[in-house]
Order: sequence, then structure tokens, then C-alpha cells
Amino acid sequence: MPEETRGASGACAKCSCDLAQDQAVCLWDGKEYCRACVNSVSPMLLAYAKIYSILSERIVIHPRDAVRDELLLWCLVGPAFTGFLCYVGFTNGLGIWNGIFLGVVVTALGALVRSLIVYRAAALVSGRVEVEDGRLRVQHPGRGNASWALQDCQWHVGSARKAKTFFPGLFVSRRLIIVECPLNVRFLWRLNARVPCGLTKELREVWESFLIIAGVERKRRFLR
Ligand SMILES: [Zn+2]
Repeated sequence: MPEETRGASGACAKCSCDLAQDQAVCLWDGKEYCRACVNSVSPMLLAYAKIYSILSERIVIHPRDAVRDELLLWCLVGPAFTGFLCYVGFTNGLGIWNGIFLGVVVTALGALVRSLIVYRAAALVSGRVEVEDGRLRVQHPGRGNASWALQDCQWHVGSARKAKTFFPGLFVSRRLIIVECPLNVRFLWRLNARVPCGLTKELREVWESFLIIAGVERKRRFLR
């Protein structure tokens, strides 16, 4: 059911203007906003809110993208490793060419083996994150389901590697939204579950603009 048809009353949760029935947009935090406020944050958010009663995203990664990221990593590590072997070969009289040869062979074999491992691991990535009526629900492939009040969470834009429990064994370089959800575990500091979302450019804009207008706390840079 489109959100706008749920019925409107009261004031916009952001600018406090009176909401006419045809101007109200109910977002997934359970609050109503005027069209102008939602559109000013993101026209994409307004379009999604009109269509979807739940903000929902599958957490998956295409194996091809995972392999590409892994190979980019080896493109950095390989020359550095080869340079190190050349230095060792030069200082020990074993020859620079032996260092280059060994470095290239090890890098090529390592990249090949890791690409196969990463391809299979990426195919197993699965999960889902949803927001409805102010609750964040997460389906974790290994840890089951969990939910939090959205206002108890924090978020920031960061590397997918920060949410590594969803991408085990993968070097995923893309930047996305990381939602930090409080756990009932404390060890010197509060521990959070890091939930990735906004894996595509379009959904990243929707998640980011939604979290901003909903007033969910953005985690400060030095605390990430
Ligand atoms: Zn407003």
C-alpha cells in the first residue's frame, strides 16, 4: 500500500507545518512529513516512500564484483611483494631477476587461488535489512534475526569491510551505509552490530537521506 494513503493528520515531523492529506508522506520511521521536506532531502527518497511501505534491501554481493575487488588488492600487494623479493635478491647476491620471477609467480598463484575462494564465498553472502514503523530488522545468515529501535542506532558512511560479519573472507572495497546497532554486551566500551545497507548507488542515497531526515544519530568520524 502506498505510504501516502495511510492517512494524514497533525504536523510534519521535520518543519511542523500542518499536513494536508495530499501533502503527507509517511516514512519508515512511522512519522509523517510534508512532501517539501522529504523532497528537499532527496527526490529519490520521496519516490521510494510513495512506492514502498517497508524499506527493505537484500544484502548480497555479485561474485564478479568480489573477485574484481580482490584482484585490485593483489595489484597493490603483488608489486610491493615483488619489490621486497628484489631487494632481498640484490642484498644477498641472488639476483634481482630471480626476485622478479618469484614475485610474479607467487602473486599470480595467490591471486588465482584467492579469486576462486572469494568467488565461492561471495555466492554465499545473504541477508536482509528492513525498516518499518521505526524498527530496524536484520536477517543475518549466520546469526539469525534481530531487531532494534531505529533511534537506538547510529550510522555512518564507511567501507563494507567494517561490516565483515556479513562479508566473511571478502575484501569488499565499496563504500556504503553502516548502521551500528547496540548489543547487550559490554567490554570496556559498548559493542555494536554493524549492519551494511545501501549497497547500490540508488539505495545508498535512499538510506542516507532517510536516516538524516529521521534524525538517527550520525556517528562522528573519530569514533568509527
Ligand atoms: Zn515539512
